[in-house]
Amino acid sequence: MSETPYPHLLAPLDLGFVTLPNRVLMGSMHTGLEDHARDYDKLATYFAVRARGGVGLMVTGGIAPNIEGWLKPLSGTMSMRWHVARHRKVTSAVHAEGGRICMQILHAGRYAVHPLSVAPSKIKSPITRFTPRALSSSGIERTIRAFVRSAQLAREAGYDGVEIMGSEGYLINQFLVARTNKREDEFGGALENRMRFPVEIVQRTREAVGRDFIIIYRLSMLDLVDRGQSWEEIVALAKGVEAAGATLINTGIGWHEARIPTIITSVPRAAFAWVTRRMKKQVRIPLITTNRINMPEVAEALLARGDADMISMARPLLADPEWVNKARENRADRINTCIACNQACLDHVFENKRASCLVNPRACFETELVIEPAARKKRFGVVGAGPAGLAAACTLAERGHAVTLYEQANEIGGQFNLAKRIPGKEEFAETLRYFSNRLHDLGVEVRLNATADAKTLRAQNYDGVIIATGVNPRDPRIPGQERVNVHGYTDVVSGKVEIGKRVAIVGAGGIGFDVAEYLSQPPPSPTLDIPRWMHEWGVDMSLAHRGGLSKPQVEPSPREIWLLQRTPGRPGKRLNKTTGWVHRAALKAKDVQMLGGVVYERIDDAGLHIRVDDQPRVLEVDDVVICAGQESNRALADELLALDIETHVVGGADVAAELDAKRAIAQATRLAATL
Ligand code: NAP
Ligand code: SF4
Repeated sequence: MSETPYPHLLAPLDLGFVTLPNRVLMGSMHTGLEDHARDYDKLATYFAVRARGGVGLMVTGGIAPNIEGWLKPLSGTMSMRWHVARHRKVTSAVHAEGGRICMQILHAGRYAVHPLSVAPSKIKSPITRFTPRALSSSGIERTIRAFVRSAQLAREAGYDGVEIMGSEGYLINQFLVARTNKREDEFGGALENRMRFPVEIVQRTREAVGRDFIIIYRLSMLDLVDRGQSWEEIVALAKGVEAAGATLINTGIGWHEARIPTIITSVPRAAFAWVTRRMKKQVRIPLITTNRINMPEVAEALLARGDADMISMARPLLADPEWVNKARENRADRINTCIACNQACLDHVFENKRASCLVNPRACFETELVIEPAARKKRFGVVGAGPAGLAAACTLAERGHAVTLYEQANEIGGQFNLAKRIPGKEEFAETLRYFSNRLHDLGVEVRLNATADAKTLRAQNYDGVIIATGVNPRDPRIPGQERVNVHGYTDVVSGKVEIGKRVAIVGAGGIGFDVAEYLSQPPPSPTLDIPRWMHEWGVDMSLAHRGGLSKPQVEPSPREIWLLQRTPGRPGKRLNKTTGWVHRAALKAKDVQMLGGVVYERIDDAGLHIRVDDQPRVLEVDDVVICAGQESNRALADELLALDIETHVVGGADVAAELDAKRAIAQATRLAATL
């Protein structure tokens, strides 16, 4: 093989009865396609595309071993022989591409969102509505048998193995700690009793499936909840499942109810690999590490250091199915990097929508959003190089059209150039790197510092023009806003203006929160410093305490900050499901004062005059930053339409309300796929 910068990542892994071609595991991730038989053709293509992309081994989203184990009503289940046929579509498609795939068996336990939920004890979780029924002894036996049967059926369906989901606070995890297991029988109390449930599942599964079938055990190596497991208990369990016949141990970090973020973009890259490294000395079977590993150089460094034997990634392979092939071909700079935003993947799953990917709207829509060569090659002008314009230009060029991209700034990126400057959002720069290379590879003519007007565009005689001119900040019309100490958010985040010690932020949408984060977090960003980040969130890297928790040590904000909105109630309610709580918690820890129900009266020498609950109040601030939302910038589109030029409007220029990059990229890609 030619010289590769990733020799460890691309090295085969011999499991005794099978050799995996490299060290990349596509980790389990629910897509919503697992739950209905009608979607299995789509699911099969989704996995086949990733097998073709060179992934060593893949794991399906969680499949319940019985009805009680459903995450929500009618979740994907493998308990009956008639379930096998639909799964065969997946395994055949993957094998046809030379890939391998395991089925994850997930029993939700008390995290189930339905009334049939069961758990070791009748204790409701803080994140679900239903109180589980405590399993009887015979119920436990039936559940173990359901796991085993599910694994046998998975083998029958052609899977190369199973992953037994023992982490993230699901049923197996619930057996392991006293906070959720108050049983007094042989499955509760002493450690060997609490461990009995998972160890029996692994042992009896191994007996049932034979020696040449992969069993991955996903082990909660860090619970991140109060009264979680101690490190000694976790090591004992790892040894127990190894002895019971597991082939590989995967790392699980944090229960879903934990209040420490574990995968979002502000979590440092490879933040938790140190936990797997600690376990390396304890067991002989290969270990898989995970969480926020999204680029080959990060994965390679971990493997080279011996932190783990394999790397698990799920979202990065949604973002770019060709991730492994690109690493192998030494084209990592062409990877469409997962920015860990959760906006189109996990947030969708929580909203009962099909998962996709913000930077790759084709993810999970491979059979529906097809980018094919155009029947007739045309010439297009695209105006605006923010996410929508970039996606439109690249997709059009991919289809063979000739594309000229106009951008009035001196760089591509639009709002992403601001996003990447927010502490914890450094990943957004990767998307711009990707698009920049993609434009180059596809031969898109990029004109920077170019203001495209209707006359210029008409003179070019394009077959069509895509308007992706984005948004203009909304004017909140507050008396006194013309003062020198009142700033638009772009000037603040781009560093054009200095902000004083006391500041009020008008508007608490996504950008108001970003600005509060920017002003409360002096550089360098904790996202670039794992020990500092662990300190700030209260993760005990010595693992001396149960659950891996310690007291958070937050660096105080260098400023006093007020974050304001007119809508009554606490700001931040409309932020995204899986990330909003992190932003709220981070700002709370920095003592940012969040006020809802605010009426803005005026700004003068005394500061910002507001009314809250009909009471006047003056915020004696040095500066006011306006983050009052956006309005579409579509004047050019209207001019072109008046000239009868074929014009399409995408992204914020189309609809500014609730503008986001997910909608912009998806809309632009879908449009370009049809032109
Ligand atoms: P936004 O989320 O729509 O928020 C606008 C804010 O301005 C709201 O708090 C709104 O609350 C306030 N507002 C609206 N009209 C106002 C007026 N006339 N005077 C004073 N305040 C007014 O917009 P954004 O913050 O500009 O963000 C734009 C989009 O970018 C977001 O929707 C989001 O999708 C995306 N984004 C996302 C993230 C993220 O972390 N996911 C981060 C940044 C941006 P009241 O009306 O209650 O005052
Ligand atoms: Fe990654 Fe965001 Fe895509 Fe999810 S939506 S895979 S987090 S880039």
